[in-house]
Amino acid sequence: MKTHTIAVLEGDGIGPEIVREAVKVLRAVEPATGARFELKYAPFGGQAWFDHGSSFPAETMAVCDASDAILKGPIGLGTEASKQIPVNEQPERGALLPLRKRYNTYANFRPVYLPPELIRFSPLRAERIPGGIDIVIIRELVGGLYFGEKKEGLSAEDGRYVTETLEYSEREIRRILMAAFEAARRRRRLLHSVHKSNVLLSSVLWNDVLDDIKKYYADVEVRSIIVDAAATALVLRPDQFDVMVMENMFGDILSDLGGGILGSLGLMPSACIGMEKSFYEPSHGSAPDIAGKGTANPYSMIGSVALMLEKSFGHDAAAARIWAAMRRVFGSGHVTADLAEPGSPDRVLGTAAFGDMVVSALAD
Ligand code: NAD
Repeated sequence: MKTHTIAVLEGDGIGPEIVREAVKVLRAVEPATGARFELKYAPFGGQAWFDHGSSFPAETMAVCDASDAILKGPIGLGTEASKQIPVNEQPERGALLPLRKRYNTYANFRPVYLPPELIRFSPLRAERIPGGIDIVIIRELVGGLYFGEKKEGLSAEDGRYVTETLEYSEREIRRILMAAFEAARRRRRLLHSVHKSNVLLSSVLWNDVLDDIKKYYADVEVRSIIVDAAATALVLRPDQFDVMVMENMFGDILSDLGGGILGSLGLMPSACIGMEKSFYEPSHGSAPDIAGKGTANPYSMIGSVALMLEKSFGHDAAAARIWAAMRRVFGSGHVTADLAEPGSPDRVLGTAAFGDMVVSALAD
């Protein structure tokens, strides 16, 4: 029997609560996969810094290095708690960015998906999204402003200043665009390339590279759209999009907007794909405002398990069963607290109850 070793990083805030439900669901589908999942838990994030003096301890790196895939809960602390940690060791700079860099997970897939029977969750008017919402945002994840050189200084006239560098090479742009073209080929063969070439030279290069490679994908229709216009269009007419590709910071921001049009960030799983190793995490943060209350929506984390089964292990049938089970739970008049509307007849489920219902729905 094949064994898949999975590093499990529970993270901070709601992380441990939603990871628990995701693991429950993983265990429930395990027998049908014909494989065995060996889970190795390791500390990662703000709590790891307090407990181990590092937000990405060496022992966690070793566990991740030895794993076939990584399942990661959200990390991060509230603003006040963060101040107790030196700036460069705070969870995002000290753990998340180094994790992305270590495994070169350059392609971040963020499904923005709401089937027609669940459009009641969206803040958009139903007539705007009669067929639901079905978009994949592909975000470049290891380049751009978040990884460029940073400098701090002091000027006599203006006081303190910082310089942050937005750098992209042709090679980095080509590989993310190719990932997007391949994804578009597996879907509606429509690709929106998001840029800001009216201002940023990095976007001029992006568009040049796009012109170079789109001839190899003549079966895919390419539409270029400026990032600010894309933000408006996502709200006004999301049905015009299928696959969208963009650089790192644009993707960070537009994918949260994606969570907004679905009705909650709790509906946003993601896959961070590298050539050798990939990790899977919700698109959202650690939600310190609701941590420990048992009300977080674990869909994003359970969906990340489904993405891992598909993309790292090829267990497509098990993944499809998980998506279907979650649809059935929501479709049968249940919601999590983030999606609850006052006066609606929907029954509100806590984090663990949602996980239990997904496990029951898997058996249907
Ligand atoms: P957040 O994404 O944690 O939360 C924004 C809002 O969405 C909050 O109201 C929260 O309650 C809600 N929310 C998020 N996930 C939810 C879920 N599964 N169920 C129900 N509600 C949910 O953003 P924030 O509050 O700005 O950030 C908190 C911390 O997370 C910060 O330290 C931030 O840096 C970090 N962060 C980490 C990641 C990551 O680990 N990849 C990503 C984004 C932010």
